[in-house]
Amino acid sequence: MAVKFQPRWFVALLSILWMGVPLPLLFAADPLVLYSARKEHLIKPVIDQYTKETGIQVKLLTDKEAALLVRLKAEGKNTPADLLMTVDAGNLWQAVQQDVLLQVNSEILKENVPLHLRDPKGHWVGLSIRARTIVYNTNRVKPSDLFTYEALGDPKWKKRLCLRTSKKVYNQSLIAMMISQLGKEKTEAVVQSWVNNLATPVFSNDTKVLQAIAAGQCDVGIVNTYYYGRLLRNKPDMPLALFWPNQAGRGVHVNISGAGVTKHSKQVKAATAFLEWLSSEEAQNLFADGNLEYPVNPKVKPVPEVAAWGDFKQDQTNLAKAGELQKEAIQLMDRMGYK
Ligand code: FE
Repeated sequence: MAVKFQPRWFVALLSILWMGVPLPLLFAADPLVLYSARKEHLIKPVIDQYTKETGIQVKLLTDKEAALLVRLKAEGKNTPADLLMTVDAGNLWQAVQQDVLLQVNSEILKENVPLHLRDPKGHWVGLSIRARTIVYNTNRVKPSDLFTYEALGDPKWKKRLCLRTSKKVYNQSLIAMMISQLGKEKTEAVVQSWVNNLATPVFSNDTKVLQAIAAGQCDVGIVNTYYYGRLLRNKPDMPLALFWPNQAGRGVHVNISGAGVTKHSKQVKAATAFLEWLSSEEAQNLFADGNLEYPVNPKVKPVPEVAAWGDFKQDQTNLAKAGELQKEAIQLMDRMGYK
């Protein structure tokens, strides 16, 4: 049966177009709800672009990692959240332990994200890479003085090392990955030797470590690359440089910011499609560049400012290990007096 032309529909469509409502929005699905522990200014441009292209709205709820987990757990089946986004594989692993993430099997994510940067079981996927590497004072240290993370325990660095607190998940992941590679005993010896070399009490954040090294309070430290990038952007004359350790061995410790679909999402397909888009060549720079991070998708190059820090070999061990060995890492650092 032929559909009869209905002038009323035509008039309705015309009036909507006249009101300037973009066409995709007229046919859009329900909005996706994203719980995010990342800063809103980093995520907003990315979701705005997604909405522009697909018409799908993404509602953002930003809070601290722990608060979001408590909320997801409490909301249970009634959660409005379709996705959880946070930093560090140690945190994503915790979300899996809390049973708030869904296993997703996506060929696109497998294609776009290297194996070591996603959960082997598919609960979460990395979306940007940050390296946790060595930084040094260029007036007092030559790159040839540096070698591995372990070698920062050498007596020549006595009273010359600065570290961030072991309470931060970044260091828990670093040590967990070290345990997975070197074993418990060797890692204990490394952590002990670092503690022996500390020039100052541990710092509450990476930026303070960088500033202490620049000020000559100490000569070397370990930080996430984007903190170095941020600081240098404001003060390009600071006597600081990055060093890529363990290049003849396991490589630099990298971690991720990442996300997963929530266990009780009512829009699993749409949420998965959003993750797939975030991992795409098109979205990766948008996602990584804002925080001076590296794209996870190997086909996408970092922004020139980041590329200028040089190429490096990264540790290819699956980051799920950072979660599995997190508790052991915390206990080990505690035993060795790393505060
Ligand atoms: Fe950070």
